[in-house]
Amino acid sequence: MNIILLGPPGAGKGTQAKRLQDRYGMIQISTGDMLRAEVAAGSEVGLQAKAVMAAGALVSDDILIRMLAGRINRPDCAPGFILDGFPRTVPQAQALDTMLAGLDRKLDIVIELIVDDAALTDRIAGRYTCEVCGEGYHDKFQKPANPGVCDRCGGTQFVRRADDNRETVGARLAAYHAQTAPILPHYRASGKLHQVDGMANIDVVTTALVAVLDGVQD
Ligand code: ADP
Ligand code: ADP
Ligand code: ZN
Repeated sequence: MNIILLGPPGAGKGTQAKRLQDRYGMIQISTGDMLRAEVAAGSEVGLQAKAVMAAGALVSDDILIRMLAGRINRPDCAPGFILDGFPRTVPQAQALDTMLAGLDRKLDIVIELIVDDAALTDRIAGRYTCEVCGEGYHDKFQKPANPGVCDRCGGTQFVRRADDNRETVGARLAAYHAQTAPILPHYRASGKLHQVDGMANIDVVTTALVAVLDGVQD
């Protein structure tokens, strides 16, 4: 299955995409993670994206569309993919349709995680990840079982994103409402859009997503 997880920054897309990847075997494609890797590598794309990301704005459609086309074509995506962070603009959504048609593949389902802005700010301010395996944590809502030790890999080094601060969150939420929310009608019209309450705790959200996905699987 090929799915899109939509939702504002901090909605839980990355957290849930990893769980769905473990359960169903589709590959999580996080454009934010891909961009952060480019920034860390100091590549040309990374140099262009760095300041834009730090300001909480969106990186250009050209860069993102090229990046995604390269990724989706790789053989590991053959069993299916979970898009996390793409598309984020109407031109990106249109480019995705064209890309999938060219590959003779289709989108099975689009799920929007609904979370209110106040909760998003708290989630983003407390977010951190394992530096070794990328597992996501939160200061209050998702602590490792043993303090300071990653549940998944045993790693002891953790990182916080440069853009996860209360100052930048406002710009990122504004970008979501102005540039990303307008893609929803496109998916609603195609009958592929499902909405899931993302305010519930992490396990409850996973159960709701599984119910939606199992409902569309044949
Ligand atoms: P996104 O990928 O949509 O930006 P994340 O999956 O990174 O969001 O989640 C943002 C932060 O909120 C992380 O620290 C994560 O542990 C936490 N989180 C995710 N889902 C929930 C939830 N349902 N309830 C509380 N905290 C959550
Ligand atoms: P979050 O889930 O918290 O919004 P992401 O990791 O998805 O964060 O994205 C981090 C940043 O990377 C965004 O604020 C934006 O600058 C850039 N980015 C990621 N995906 C896209 C995209 N599809 N289009 C434009 N910019 C993107
Ligand atoms: Zn880890």
